[in-house]
Amino acid sequence: MRMQTPSIPTTSSSNPLLGNSPLPAFDQIRPEHVEPAVRELLGQCNQALETATAMDFPANWNHISKVLDTATERLGCSWGAVSHLNSVCDSPELRAAYNTGLPLVTEFWTRLGSDERLYAKYKAIDAATLTAEQVQAHKNAMRDFVLGGAELTGAAKARFAAIQERQAELSQKFSENALDATDKFDLVVDAAAMDGVPSDVQQATRAAAQAAGLDGHRLSLKLPCYLPVMQFANDRELRQTMYRAYATRASDQASPELAQFDNSALMREILALRKEEAVLLGFENFGELSLAPKMAESPARVIAFLRDLAARARPYAEQDMADLREFARQHLQLPDLQAWDIPYVGEKLKETRFAFSEQEIKQYFTFPKVLDGLFKIAETLFEVVITKDTAAVWEPGVSFYRIERQGADTGAGDRLALVGQFYLDPTARSGKRGGAWMDDVRSRWLRPDTGLTQTPVAHLVCNFAGPVAVDGAQRPALLTHDDVITLFHEFGHGLHHLLTLVNERQVSGISGVEWDAVELPSQFMENFCWEWDVLRHMTCHVHSGESLPRALFDKMLAAKNFQSGLQTLRQLEFSLFDMLLHTSHDAQNGILALQQRVRDEVAVVQPPAWSRNAHTFSHIFAGGYAAGYYSYKWAEVLSADAYAAFEETVLKNGQPDRETGRKYRQEILEAGGSRPALDSFKAFRGRPPELDALLRHLGMAGNPRTT
Ligand code: ZN
Repeated sequence: MRMQTPSIPTTSSSNPLLGNSPLPAFDQIRPEHVEPAVRELLGQCNQALETATAMDFPANWNHISKVLDTATERLGCSWGAVSHLNSVCDSPELRAAYNTGLPLVTEFWTRLGSDERLYAKYKAIDAATLTAEQVQAHKNAMRDFVLGGAELTGAAKARFAAIQERQAELSQKFSENALDATDKFDLVVDAAAMDGVPSDVQQATRAAAQAAGLDGHRLSLKLPCYLPVMQFANDRELRQTMYRAYATRASDQASPELAQFDNSALMREILALRKEEAVLLGFENFGELSLAPKMAESPARVIAFLRDLAARARPYAEQDMADLREFARQHLQLPDLQAWDIPYVGEKLKETRFAFSEQEIKQYFTFPKVLDGLFKIAETLFEVVITKDTAAVWEPGVSFYRIERQGADTGAGDRLALVGQFYLDPTARSGKRGGAWMDDVRSRWLRPDTGLTQTPVAHLVCNFAGPVAVDGAQRPALLTHDDVITLFHEFGHGLHHLLTLVNERQVSGISGVEWDAVELPSQFMENFCWEWDVLRHMTCHVHSGESLPRALFDKMLAAKNFQSGLQTLRQLEFSLFDMLLHTSHDAQNGILALQQRVRDEVAVVQPPAWSRNAHTFSHIFAGGYAAGYYSYKWAEVLSADAYAAFEETVLKNGQPDRETGRKYRQEILEAGGSRPALDSFKAFRGRPPELDALLRHLGMAGNPRTT
């Protein structure tokens, strides 16, 4: 989108954020539209809130929804469009406009969530008048009112609001410190120190030095520089310097000039406030509060799950570590393996053992072919048709698609009916936030104002390399196998949101799905990236046009679980630390002491005593994962077990069984958040989830490899 347009009048008739088009006018939204639109829409929402909470307004789901949900839907969609543009085409003007709107919108949502008049109105709704979907949405709403502080009164209510506000400030400051401590580090080295580092990384570090008028290479702690240096730099001293800087970011152990970014005090205050918040709401600790809307029953259950998995992974991790030590001693003259050697030795061992490079694989994964293959699987398994569609977009490389399906349940009989649409923005560029994500543009909803079904729309955003011009011809974008997995993952979230048949927007698609179950459909899709019958049909060598050779696939498969023991234990260590920190930790005993206890219990690699990775653990101190980091592993049990149903029913020709696909679509994807995730899982699998499939997928089903 272009931001240089001079300011134009922003009356409601010309403000695209206030228009009535069914999809956001992404090509017309300008920074100057944001604040007037937010104020206008908030005005409408506040008015709707007053109307719906008036004494004589009926306590009836549809009546409230018709007045209040239709207003908040407009605000949500418009603000969603602004926030999306802020993520994918940031500019100073848009960021300023976004930051002006953010506190206004946040204040409204917080106030709405704890409005006791609205809470009373919802309480008074006669459950007998509700559909099954509405019953679930109503149950969630009642729970969220309580967790939002709607039952508190007087001083407790005021204190609760103050805690919320202070927590938001502290989290924001924690992130800023982590970011600034990363950004402010700077190390210039000579060319010899860069020996072994891939040439494209060296080009970038050389250019960074030149841009600053310096000789040599300028290194940073950002991952595209830090990771390859740790993996490939032959200079051990350089690895040690970089490791120390990275592992002490935002802590008391950082070098004096970075001491201002120390997060220690913030972390203590955040934990104390969380505990206080939980107690105000009647919980023993923050762990219990965090689990109230999640699938896991109790912190004790989560802790037992993590400890069980850790005990199972431990022998594999010990074997991984023994392999590394042996290889380092025999082949790399490193008899005393240190923390800063592990990624380096790991890469060398991997190259020796599996004899292929990521570069070789990439040549087969051309973006258009991969996308075709992905759509083909979804079409076959879930009985849908995916075609190109048109919509206003923010960038020429963005595409828009529609998903259609036949069937009585869509209301179209044997005609194709529209089920959902999605935007796909695959390519990295400046001004676009890193990483990959799925976001909802709108949810499926049988609208109480029009009586019509609003179909769901989603964003799929990735940061892959783009197509390049080579000798005057356009060469398609090449993906790494990790990129392909990422694409499948996000598409899995997309299918969950788009294939739903639920009519209440609060529980349709991904809405209302428990946080620790929401990664089921996404991680489920990743499995297809390891199926030969899938890969050979979605690969096409960029020059020869040949599909992936079987021999290369076998090497990839052999390397799939390389060091999965170590990786699993590391995730479990973080998860256990997080849950114990929010349940049994007390301020007297210190965060670091707890971290050490967890390491003593779980880890096979002890980092140096000065390492402080908790100080940049943004997931739990600044993200939504506090007492929730376990969710990744928890959902992986579900996704692996769900995928096992496909492995068990795979046809002789290697194609997945349609009946299993249909059942998965109906019981998991279409059901969305309309019932507890455990119920959906049982409806699909015919039994509760079991751990076996995950262990098998991680290569931990038999004895650890002993060769
Ligand atoms: Zn995900």
